[in-house]
Amino acid sequence: MAKYIFITGGVVSSLGKGVAAAGCGALLQSRGYTVHARKFDPYLNIDPGTMSPFQHGEVYVTNDGYETDLDLGYYERFLGAQLSRNDSVSGGRIYWDVLNAERHGDYLGATVQMIPHVSNKIKEYISAPTDTDFVVCEIGGTVGDIEGKIFLESIRQFANDVGRHNVMFVHLTLAPYLEKSGELKTKPTQMSARELLENGIQADMLIVRTPRMLTPAERDKIGMFCNLPAKSVISGIDVDNIYKIPLAYEAQHVFDIIADHFGLPHARGDMTRFDRIETYLSADIPTVTVGVVGKYFNVPDAYKSLNEALFHAGIQNNVHIKIKQIDAETFTPEDCRDVSGILVPGGFGVRGVSGKIASAQYARENRVPYMGICLGMQVAVIEFARNVLGIENAGSSEFSSDCTPVIGIMAACDAENMGGTLRLGAYPCDVTPDTLAHKIYGATSISERHRHRYEMDIGLEQKFASAGMIISGRSPDGRLPEMIELKNHPFFIAGQFHPEFQSSPYPGHPMFNAFVAACKHN
Ligand code: GLN
Repeated sequence: MAKYIFITGGVVSSLGKGVAAAGCGALLQSRGYTVHARKFDPYLNIDPGTMSPFQHGEVYVTNDGYETDLDLGYYERFLGAQLSRNDSVSGGRIYWDVLNAERHGDYLGATVQMIPHVSNKIKEYISAPTDTDFVVCEIGGTVGDIEGKIFLESIRQFANDVGRHNVMFVHLTLAPYLEKSGELKTKPTQMSARELLENGIQADMLIVRTPRMLTPAERDKIGMFCNLPAKSVISGIDVDNIYKIPLAYEAQHVFDIIADHFGLPHARGDMTRFDRIETYLSADIPTVTVGVVGKYFNVPDAYKSLNEALFHAGIQNNVHIKIKQIDAETFTPEDCRDVSGILVPGGFGVRGVSGKIASAQYARENRVPYMGICLGMQVAVIEFARNVLGIENAGSSEFSSDCTPVIGIMAACDAENMGGTLRLGAYPCDVTPDTLAHKIYGATSISERHRHRYEMDIGLEQKFASAGMIISGRSPDGRLPEMIELKNHPFFIAGQFHPEFQSSPYPGHPMFNAFVAACKHN
């Protein structure tokens, strides 16, 4: 059976439980243990797919087509874990399952109650087999939230069921610094740990977010009030890059605390991956400016995975990446004068589309490296149809009903796991030999994740190809174009999928790596 590390949080929200959980997971992996991650969100939405990105940042898509929030992205990038829809579970989904089971008669007329019916359902998701040594499991929200009570109760029961030595509770808190008196205050942490204890959960490790390292005296005091050894009180200091967190934990012997709890031998970890990122961050190397032509820049984290993927490609190419945010709605070619490459990311709705089309035209005509993601492929196709093929009114049926659709809803999109009407999750793609795509991926069969409704019309293939835009990736049944590229251009490629969801610092993602390499040489 896997051992479990539960991460809860208190005092305030947004302390970075996901990153803390991923950081602990990384330390375990550095000692050769395998790690899976799970996240439970007590809120009542049934899944995060329909939640406003204005509240939650980007919608992250798993291989199995689940639309979830960006925390799952941290786990995949940090830990290389492959997560699925059962690894991101909300309170709403738990109640939905329970109430449906009740309607179905599964409880045989018993009175349906929070305990045991809801708590058992939560434990069922928690304990789903993983074939890893560890599961790091984040409980969203803050201790004291009404919605969260039943989740705390369930993890308490779970620890009792499987044995306390198989479960570790890590609690994240905040120690505010009072400027005036020059004091770091530990009381909120004490109260939060006590509140957790009221739910029957004794924290085994505290990670206290603070602006500076805790002093030994402060750790002693917190340990004494919170009922744990001072050595298990960790300073969660602010870092300028999340990949430094595992190093910060390593320096405070977090692995040894985990090992002591589970009765595992102390061992030195291989932190090379994170050391290399730290070295890269402070290295005196050239900077490459990439223009991202988008429209969600006012939403924090709307382009989280994209920014990450560019960062990873920077590491691989040994350059720093500067992202120039170009507002698609006000785009002029002037915006591209100081960029080495143009990237058009995914997007929905007509707002900003003409600016994106103009940016693709600029890249094509001025031989500037171009990478298109999803909508970024669609605008490149529309631009080519209009300005090279002379199809005057070429467009997408998403934006106008009286255009000549080169992008539209294809009858071929009948795949089973289309949630709502979007094509979601990983799909295989056949790559045409001797194309840029083939050179980039070094494979003729790849898999990438999707989240879109519209597709390029494959019937236009010959027409496009004879003018220089070829389809270099397609669905194995040959019906859906998945990648396009320009033949007479140094680097112009786009995918109907979202490669950013599969990028991690090592080894980066082939498409981003190649794009940044092209920018570097531009
Ligand atoms: N709006 C386009 C579609 O639905 C593209 C979506 C996207 O870029 N993710 O097909």
